[in-house]
Amino acid sequence: MARKTTTRRTSAKPPAVEPASCPTCTGTGTVARTVRVGRRHRAVGRQEGLCLTCLGSGLDPNADA
Ligand SMILES: [Zn+2]
Repeated sequence: MARKTTTRRTSAKPPAVEPASCPTCTGTGTVARTVRVGRRHRAVGRQEGLCLTCLGSGLDPNADA
């Protein structure tokens, strides 16, 4: 009885080829931040701000572990 060999082909293909998106902005590069004005820091609205984690690139800076 011939034994069936379940060989997993180990080609030189790296498993993680897709770029990991930034966990903070989820790849958009911008984050919605609340705009506060006045002495009591009243929230008047939200505006898009540059993501400080990836600095606007949208990629996870800690991806290459
Ligand atoms: Zn980001």
